[in-house]
Amino acid sequence: MHSLKTRIQQDGIVLSDEVLKVDSFLNHQVDPELMKEMGEEFCRRFQDKKITKVLTLESSGIAPALFTALNLGVPLIFARKRKSLTLNEDILTAEVYSFTKQETSTISVSKKFLNQDDHVLIIDDFLANGQAGLGLIEVVTKAKASISGIGIVIEKAFQNGGELLRDTGYQVESLARISSLENSTVSFLEEEVTV
Ligand code: 5GP
Repeated sequence: MHSLKTRIQQDGIVLSDEVLKVDSFLNHQVDPELMKEMGEEFCRRFQDKKITKVLTLESSGIAPALFTALNLGVPLIFARKRKSLTLNEDILTAEVYSFTKQETSTISVSKKFLNQDDHVLIIDDFLANGQAGLGLIEVVTKAKASISGIGIVIEKAFQNGGELLRDTGYQVESLARISSLENSTVSFLEEEVTV
């Protein structure tokens, strides 16, 4: 997605050879116009899949996932990272190791929002080592729902998550695929951005 790649080049901050900060348009301050475009693009890429629910992980996946759900005309569910006091009903859980926080957390979704008739599109902001994606797959599998695909905003293609998720056989679509963050420079896997 050209506008996303341009925005990453303009406003992304390379924190290290492995971590990109995009808090000015995705992870803290959020650009609604860009989210709207992402929603339309994910919808276009998965529109023939008869999706019934969009599933993401709080909090940074919510903005792009919400616009995707709006375009597909289906509800959005966000998996919670912490146990909520109000989430005391039957829950589906998975353990997820966070690449950025270097800690394991339990993600959970209430059983009442996912069932065997659902066709779920998983959306997340970043794909690094694939642990968040695998955790969300596990939750959907535990609900006996089916997975229609996985949509990622920014894939760091030099880490192994992309391979791990594609090896599951599901359709994985990334809006921007970064091949390297070395020398404080963002390089993309496909065509370079022409600003
Ligand atoms: P994974 O589970 O694929 O290893 O990592 C994905 C999760 O870690 C994403 O949900 C995202 O929150 C976080 N993450 C991974 N790499 C980055 C990064 O380079 N920048 C930011 N901002 N978040 C990242």
